[in-house]
Amino acid sequence: MRKRIVLLGASGSIGTQTIDVIDRHADRFELVGFSVGTQVDKAIAILRQHPVKMVCLANADDAAKVATLFPDTKVVCADEGLLELCRLNDYDVLVNALVGYVGLKPTVEAICQHKQIALANKETLVIAGEVVMQLAKANGVSIVPIDSEHSAIFQCLQSIRKSDIRNLWITASGGAFRTKKHDELADVTVKDALAHPNWKMGAKITVDSATMVNKGFEIIEAHWLFDIPYDQIHPLYHPQSIVHSMVECVDGATMAQLGSADMRVPIQYALTYPDRFEIDPSHDLNWFNPVDLHFEPLSLTRYPLLKCCLDMANKGNIFTSVLNAANEVANQAFRNGDIGYYDLENVILATCAAAKPSPCVTLESLWQAQQWAFGYATDLIYKERCEC
Ligand code: MG
Repeated sequence: MRKRIVLLGASGSIGTQTIDVIDRHADRFELVGFSVGTQVDKAIAILRQHPVKMVCLANADDAAKVATLFPDTKVVCADEGLLELCRLNDYDVLVNALVGYVGLKPTVEAICQHKQIALANKETLVIAGEVVMQLAKANGVSIVPIDSEHSAIFQCLQSIRKSDIRNLWITASGGAFRTKKHDELADVTVKDALAHPNWKMGAKITVDSATMVNKGFEIIEAHWLFDIPYDQIHPLYHPQSIVHSMVECVDGATMAQLGSADMRVPIQYALTYPDRFEIDPSHDLNWFNPVDLHFEPLSLTRYPLLKCCLDMANKGNIFTSVLNAANEVANQAFRNGDIGYYDLENVILATCAAAKPSPCVTLESLWQAQQWAFGYATDLIYKERCEC
């Protein structure tokens, strides 16, 4: 029987590659529902290939347009539509490739429906890793990572007992500004930040890679996914992006997963685990050619937002929820050209510095912390500017 998939974020980078994986293995996978945000043309193109049961668009006007063209598909919209999609009966895996905080509630909904999760939306765990992992455990749901570093660790862990882990090493390409010193970043532009040296990704995560927030988030993600203390998870600069991450055992033996920078590998593995299927061999690394691998520690002085992520991570989920919201606001403002690079950093640092603890960690309190941070960071950028 084919594995039935609901895909959130079908028009993004991970979503598009997920559909590519599904199409290459049409005998094994079936797309039964998806969401696309505002890209109506993409929704129509996907529906022509995949006549799914339900599709979700961001707004009602677009949903009405698509509904007219595809009367056999239920068309829903907005945040409530995403949840409705997750409540579909007949599917096996939710692939969550949404970007940002909007990914959290659908993940929670699918877990409550006892669906397996293939997770690309790292913000789910940055905002609410503690609650989400408890909920998954209580519902007997597995969360398999799509993020390349976590997929690498997940693959390594197939042959390593948790009690034998000494350290997790999460590799980092260094992002677009890896050859610049921190004091050389005053005039960098959005276009500069979007020029990632190795990976082709969406705009938000590419900026997060340049600021190293992405690596901070991935440490938080690894902490919750693999239940490993923060002092055993380390970022490691590796400019070639060939070693996708490593697990160091107590005896010093270190396992790594290597490969080309092709997200279809972790996407496909999340859907086929523990099996492996072929992928277009032209993307493979050629080990008959010389390959250089370089590693060195990342400087927390060079990347103040990485330090901020680690500090907030050690304070707990309320603080990482604030961190995520501040980053979403500052990242978007930077991409809009409303603030410069140092402003981006300062807005996140100031919002995190103003965060207050909460007596309990629940979905509600995490959501409230996030809403507070959205407001605080937005005011820092726009309110003070208006008063000038
Ligand atoms: Mg990653």
